[in-house]
Amino acid sequence: MSGIHEKNAHSALAQSLAEQARDFVEKRIIPNEAAISAGGEVAELIHTQLIDEARKAGLWGVFYPLSHGGKLSSLEDYLIVAEQEGRTEFSQSIFGSHSSLDAHMMLKHGNATIQKNFLEPMAAGKAISSYAMTEPDHGGSFPSLISSTAKLENGHWVINARKWFVCNTAQAAFATVLVRTATDEKTPISKALSMILVPTSSDGFKVEREISMLGRDLGQGEMSFTNVKVPQENLIGTEGGGIALMGERLGIGRLLRAMHWLGLAQRCFDLMGARVHSPRGISARLPEKQLVRQHFVKAHQAIVSARELVRIAARLVDAELLSDIEVNTAKMAASEALCLASDSAMQLYGAEGISDLTPLAGIYRIARTTRILDGSDEALTSSVGRRLVDAYKDGGEYRFD
Ligand SMILES: Cc1cc2nc3c(=O)[nH]c(=O)nc-3n(C[C@H](O)[C@H](O)[C@H](O)COP(=O)(O)OP(=O)(O)OC[C@H]3O[C@@H](n4cnc5c(N)ncnc54)[C@H](O)[C@@H]3O)c2cc1C
Repeated sequence: MSGIHEKNAHSALAQSLAEQARDFVEKRIIPNEAAISAGGEVAELIHTQLIDEARKAGLWGVFYPLSHGGKLSSLEDYLIVAEQEGRTEFSQSIFGSHSSLDAHMMLKHGNATIQKNFLEPMAAGKAISSYAMTEPDHGGSFPSLISSTAKLENGHWVINARKWFVCNTAQAAFATVLVRTATDEKTPISKALSMILVPTSSDGFKVEREISMLGRDLGQGEMSFTNVKVPQENLIGTEGGGIALMGERLGIGRLLRAMHWLGLAQRCFDLMGARVHSPRGISARLPEKQLVRQHFVKAHQAIVSARELVRIAARLVDAELLSDIEVNTAKMAASEALCLASDSAMQLYGAEGISDLTPLAGIYRIARTTRILDGSDEALTSSVGRRLVDAYKDGGEYRFD
C-alpha cells in the first residue's frame, strides 16, 4: 500500500485502517470463509464472533458518520479501506459497511425520532437495516411503476407493499420502504413516492420467503406489508421526495459497493498470481505462457481503470457534486473488473476454479450479481449514454477536463 496514489490522496488514518483491515481479512476472515460458506448454525456463530472481533479491533463501521462511531468522513479516503475490507465476499456485514449508507441517509434526512429509534441502535450493532424498493410485479429498473402504497390516516402511515430481492430480509430489524404516497395519478413521479421506515416487528409485516442466488443463500428475500401502521414521523426526507432520495442513495451506494468489488477483483488477481507460481503452475510453465500473461494484463488494466473512475466519482460525491455519469460509469467499470478478474482466475485454476475447493466460485457468484444489482448494465448504459449524447445538443460539448 505504498503506491503513489495512496500517498498523495489518502490520510494517514485511512492508510493505517487499510493495513489493519487487510490483516484482519487475511488472518481472521479468509481462514473461516469455507465454514461461513457452508451455512448453518456454526457459520452463524463464526459470523457473529467475527463481527464482534471487528468491533473490538475498531474496524466496524469505519465509514459511518463521525458522530456515530465512523472514522473517515470522505468517501475517497475510504476507498483504500473498502478495498481491503472487500477482499472477502463476507466483508459487508462483518465490517458493517452495508449499513453505513443507511446511517448517512438517516443522519442527513431523518428527524430526531428516526435517529433515536433506528440510527442509534444500528450504529450500536443492535439492529440490522434493509432497503425495500424492488417489487415482484414491476421491473426494478422502472421506479415510476412502483405500486406499493402508504396513506396517511390519523397521524399514521398505513402501508400496503410487496418487495423482493431485499438484502438482509431475515435479519432486518427495520426496512426503509419506497412507496407511492401521492393519491392523485396525475402527480409526476418526482413527487409521487416517499421513503418510510418500518420496524419488521410491526403487525402486518411478513417475510414471505428467502430467495437464494445461483444456489446460495446471500440474504435476499421477499417481504410483504399488509395494512402496516407506523407513526407519521417515520417518513425520511419529505413527503413525495422519494425519487430524489433514491437517486442520492443509489449514487453513494453504488460507489460503496464498487469499492468492495475492487477489493474482490484484487483478491482474484492475487489468486491468479499464486496459482501460476504454485508447483502445479511452474510444472506447466504457466508464468512463461503469453496467453496466461494476457489474463494478468487485461485484469490489471480493468482494475486500475475502474479504481481511478471510482476515485473520481467519490471525489465528486465528497464535494456534493453527485453526477450520474461518473457514478454509473464507475459502478459498471468496477463490475466489469470483478467479472473479468474472477473469470480469468477461474480459468487459470482449471477444474479447481469451478469447484468449491477455492473461494472463486463464491466470488464468481457475487461478480455475476453486480451486473444487475443497483441498476442493470443496460439501464445504466442507457442513462449515461443519453446524458453524453445530450451534452452535444444545441451546439454543446462534453468536457473531459
Ligand atoms: C444480489 C442482489 C441484491 C439486491 N438487493 C436489493 C435490495 O436490498 N433491495 C431492493 O429493493 N432490491 C434489491 N435488488 C434488486 C435490484 O435492485 C434489481 O434487480 C435491479 O434494480 C434490476 O431490477 P429487476 O431485477 O427488476 O430487473 P428489470 O428491471 O426487470 O430488468 C431486467 C432486464 O431488462 C433489461 N433492461 C432494463 N432496463 C433496460 C434499459 N433501459 N435498456 C435496455 N435493457 C434494459 C436488462 O437486461 C435488465 O437486466 C437486489 C438484486 C440483486 C441481484
